[in-house]
Amino acid sequence: MELNLSKEDAAFRDEVRSFIAEKYPAEMRVANPEIDLTKEQSLLWHRILYKKGWIAPSWPKEYGGPGWTIAQRYIFEQETSRAGTLPPLPFGVTMVGPVIYTFGNDAQKEKFLPRILSGDDWWCQGYTEPGAGSDLASLRTKALRDGDHYIVNGHKTWTTLAQHADWIFCLVRTDPQAKAQSGISFLLIDMNTAGVTVRPIITIDGSHEVNDVFLEDVRVPVDNLIGEENKGWTYAKFLLGNERTSMAGTGHSKRRLQGLKAIVRAEIAPDDSAGCDLAKDIAKAEIDLMALEATEARMISQLSRGKDPGPAASLLKIRGTEIHQRIADLTHRAIGQYGLALREHPAGGNAFVPGPSYGHTATEKYLNTRKLSIYGGSNEIQRNIIAKAVLGL
Ligand SMILES: Cc1cc2nc3c(=O)[nH]c(=O)nc-3n(C[C@H](O)[C@H](O)[C@H](O)COP(=O)(O)OP(=O)(O)OC[C@H]3O[C@@H](n4cnc5c(N)ncnc54)[C@H](O)[C@@H]3O)c2cc1C
Repeated sequence: MELNLSKEDAAFRDEVRSFIAEKYPAEMRVANPEIDLTKEQSLLWHRILYKKGWIAPSWPKEYGGPGWTIAQRYIFEQETSRAGTLPPLPFGVTMVGPVIYTFGNDAQKEKFLPRILSGDDWWCQGYTEPGAGSDLASLRTKALRDGDHYIVNGHKTWTTLAQHADWIFCLVRTDPQAKAQSGISFLLIDMNTAGVTVRPIITIDGSHEVNDVFLEDVRVPVDNLIGEENKGWTYAKFLLGNERTSMAGTGHSKRRLQGLKAIVRAEIAPDDSAGCDLAKDIAKAEIDLMALEATEARMISQLSRGKDPGPAASLLKIRGTEIHQRIADLTHRAIGQYGLALREHPAGGNAFVPGPSYGHTATEKYLNTRKLSIYGGSNEIQRNIIAKAVLGL
């Protein structure tokens, strides 16, 4: 299903398609790019998009955005995920960049925005702490003013790809007396400052994607404070809103579904009764995906007319991540015993097992996709948002 494209939008879609076909780096086409690529390899596409002027679709033109309409942004998103390109890291372009150009001062805009666009600075997100995930406002990392600096002490966790990061944007408590949300500030911290330690957390799929970040007497210039002291909660919520609206991932799910169907065709005989059950479940997932796409298209066209879907965007996050997880689960069912393969002994080496989506990669993906319903605000929290803000319960 596609938006009813105007002639101009169809031409734009064709331009995006041929750009990807021509320019997407072959060395980024690995089975599990999030895990298998080095830092430099994973930045190759970012830098190509930057050169083309397409790295920050949602940014205003004056800060380096391409000046696209909402429909064009949606088309770009669909085409890049359909083609299986590795999306540029969200922490700079989607998260902290818009906070800086909306709430930062001129010096901060000048210092940080160009380096976010070019990929020269790799950012990570320092929100979550061991005692503050869903209940983020109970965070305890402290920043005490000492002349022109803050002295920061605390522990951030689940920090994605902090091992590569040059900068971290942190929520810190600047007024310990104030009530939960009111004493929080939004601070930018150079990861090379003395007192910052990154320790890996290895996840169930065996990958090193997340980390603990310890902050011990870290001296941060006051110049790195975004907006006003103790007003960080406002900026934090603005950032989370941007993070969630792009989480439906329908293009990505469509691509995975195609891979799954190819596996079923190659591996399961038409008269296999277990295969028949599987086919029914795949059909259900596909129908749900089509329904989600229709909902997404409706929201996009509302947005184009200036109507913000607001909290209803939580629906996209819930359904999008559930469908993604179901497809990973079905893929795992479809590959049967190949799912037992390990990274050290990949089933892909077997002549009977063609293609990169088999064996250990499918298992890793199945395990890795567990995270989708947790991060970016867990799906239970999204349901609470819908219950309160949409249904008025
Ligand atoms: C792979 C991964 C990457 C991440 N990357 C980052 C990152 O880069 N930066 C960062 O800051 N954070 C990151 N996070 C953290 C993520 O945002 C939190 O895990 C998430 O907000 C949930 O917090 P928690 O893990 O503390 O779980 P908790 O808040 O302790 O929740 C535990 C369970 O209880 C449920 N629950 C909690 N409160 C309620 C409620 N009121 N009603 C109903 N159910 C509830 C939750 O849904 C969940 O199922 C990442 C997490 C993962 C898994």
